[in-house]
Amino acid sequence: LAQLFRPLDMLGMVYRTIRQGLIDMAEMFRLLDEPQEVSDKPGAPALVIRRPSVVFEDVVFGYEKDRTILKGLSFEVPAGQNFAVVGPSGAGKSTLARLLFRFYDPWSGRILIDGQDIAQITQASLRAAIGIVPQDSVLFNETIGYNIAYGRSDATEEDVQAAARGAALMPLIERLPQGFGTEVGERGLKLSGGEKQRVAIARTLVKNPPILLLDEATSALDTRTEQDILATLHRVSEDRTSISIAHRLSTIADSDSILVLQDGCLAESGSHLELLRHDGLYAEMWARQAAEAEELSEAAE
Ligand code: ATP
Repeated sequence: LAQLFRPLDMLGMVYRTIRQGLIDMAEMFRLLDEPQEVSDKPGAPALVIRRPSVVFEDVVFGYEKDRTILKGLSFEVPAGQNFAVVGPSGAGKSTLARLLFRFYDPWSGRILIDGQDIAQITQASLRAAIGIVPQDSVLFNETIGYNIAYGRSDATEEDVQAAARGAALMPLIERLPQGFGTEVGERGLKLSGGEKQRVAIARTLVKNPPILLLDEATSALDTRTEQDILATLHRVSEDRTSISIAHRLSTIADSDSILVLQDGCLAESGSHLELLRHDGLYAEMWARQAAEAEELSEAAE
């Protein structure tokens, strides 16, 4: 019987290896675990960006026919602004991100970047315009330089160095005997969660996208590292349009605007102070998280 199962075991291993490879290649974001359901319209033009605004126009969408997840979502992120999306678990935050990356098309409504409907342009040009910084980054068993340059085939050595500086990776690289030529990943140098995330930030900087989609759940990191990473992310977002999917509110309080999703609808939006004054769902979530943080710090004492 064992003999019968051994080939199956091996098949499983091969499958996992191939699948891992695909995930690596597919930009390493959990969004990409999703099936690809859309294709380019015949003759679709490329996205042309002058001012990278993002608009959701009455977007309705669900994964299954009889279950609507986004129920007429509308908002506008003006070019160059940093927005955050918050809301209870299951509200539709990741779904919004998946639609912006066009893994699915809305049932109705439109998503526009710089005035162009993303369903009408090529997917390649859409995805080139959006940089993603995932919460878990997968590294190749390759040099740190390769891992940074990945995503832009024509990146020069200067581009890689500038990106490493922007992502505050230089202190690490300077400590390594082979610098950018050091092998990392499973078979090379093991990087910490924070270092891996910095590589992901550098990779995004090399791509130099006008729009950033950030997944800000940095729970795997200790607080000090997390603060450093957030500071880096804020710096790289400054002159770009960014949308941060956030779980902890303390990390996004200084966003230009915060969209509060609840059950697939926009419950509230505004700056941190405006939302606190409004005393609705956001204020309630803020109070709860502050109380939890206090409990944690008391427990630590
Ligand atoms: P969280 O804060 O927990 O990450 P979220 O606000 O990001 O939640 P989504 O992941 O967008 O929420 O999910 C919204 C709803 O859509 C949930 O009820 C979820 O079960 C459902 N959903 C998400 N992905 C799929 C899928 N691939 N197929 C079917 N339903 C899905």
